[in-house]
Amino acid sequence: MNSSWKLLTVRGIAIRIHITFPLILVFAAMTYGQMGGASGALFGIVSVLLLFVLVTLHELGHSFAALHYGIPVRQIVLLPIGGLAQLERMPEKPQQELVVAAAGPAVNVVLAMVMGLVAWLLNIPVLGGIQDFSLTFRALFSFLLLYNIILALFNLLPAFPLDGGRMLRALLALRLKHEQATAVAVNIGRVVAMLMGLWAIWNGAIFMALIALFIFVAGTQELAAIRWQGRMRRSGYGHMVREVFSPVVGVLGPYDSLRQALAERMRGWQSDFPVAEDGHYIGFVTEDGLLRAANLYGPDALIYAAISSEVRPVSLQTDLLDVISQMARLRVWALPVVEYGRLLGMITYRQIQEFIHATPGFPPEDTRRIVRA
Ligand SMILES: [Zn+2]
Repeated sequence: MNSSWKLLTVRGIAIRIHITFPLILVFAAMTYGQMGGASGALFGIVSVLLLFVLVTLHELGHSFAALHYGIPVRQIVLLPIGGLAQLERMPEKPQQELVVAAAGPAVNVVLAMVMGLVAWLLNIPVLGGIQDFSLTFRALFSFLLLYNIILALFNLLPAFPLDGGRMLRALLALRLKHEQATAVAVNIGRVVAMLMGLWAIWNGAIFMALIALFIFVAGTQELAAIRWQGRMRRSGYGHMVREVFSPVVGVLGPYDSLRQALAERMRGWQSDFPVAEDGHYIGFVTEDGLLRAANLYGPDALIYAAISSEVRPVSLQTDLLDVISQMARLRVWALPVVEYGRLLGMITYRQIQEFIHATPGFPPEDTRRIVRA
């Protein structure tokens, strides 16, 4: 509710724009403005908006494939570095993952073929048109055609968690165990990301360097999360939130300001906070959300501005495995524990880690591997 705006809904899937999205428009206006003045800046903005139509279609490709397998799609979020279709869960069968991952780039391949045919029929130069930064049909058309090809090729790079990397993982998972397949795909992805990063730094392409860094970090995080899940499953964990959560936590009230929340944060005990009134759960504020809201609305805004739209509370009976997968998916380190609308406390990644370490029979050498991952 605070970190993104809803644009429209397609087949029950909300398409949202992240608050950082306008950055890419500013970036495009500046980049093309340098080359073509005011009309170049305008070209930059319009072409990037159209580019994100392509990105949305790509994400809808993934989403429709997921829906086909009965996997609900929560939303599509458009970020400056691209789009993200958030599936309720990942397909477990390798064949399904392969299809869901391939469906996104397939949309761009089909669009590129259709647009290529149109370009050929109308005699539009594909690469030549890019030199021209005026707002003409031809310039925009060749720009979009080129970007369709780039989007397809880029996403097909075997760099987990890009689509190509996911396809690779799915193919490997036909032969290997899920976790092993992920490890191989992530390692290949890290090498690709490093090569991409080096190339980007060498050529001064900052945006590309950021994307390479993102691929490296995201792949590493997903591998770590999957390894944890594997460990927990193997250790026979059917453990629930009630065994781990802490009932004593700092709670914010609905009329608290972001400044008060930041002051609580600075005291250092807690970085994420449930919001409640008279014990009734209202929402959850993550550290990330708090800092972002404070930047955007200033410290005097009410805490509502920072409440996460994505965090779902867990109950006492929720399996720790589900807790960890929600944490990994949302990249949060704590979740509120709520039962019948009443806030009971909070569960953190740290507590789960400590709980597992305290459980006898957990091999210590495994732990070291997790830390390195
Ligand atoms: Zn994709």
